Amino acid sequence: MAIIHYECKRCKKEFDCDVGKIDFNDMQSNNWRPKFEKDIICPNCGKRTFDEVDLTELGQSQLTELYFKDDTKH
Ligand SMILES: [Zn+2]
Repeated sequence: MAIIHYECKRCKKEFDCDVGKIDFNDMQSNNWRPKFEKDIICPNCGKRTFDEVDLTELGQSQLTELYFKDDTKH
């Protein structure tokens, strides 16, 4: 599981979300969007897509760390 910190673009709330497994394999072809196993859920707005949230600075470093730790990517 992976906890990533986001800010919702609609309500501006910052929250931690467990996105499950992250698939980095398509990331470059997919405009640097990793695939998440679980949905991103804003506590106020419910299910959000990757476009409807911003990664906070903390979220970016969490994602970067997971990217470099990930040994399933090829
Ligand atoms: Zn929200």
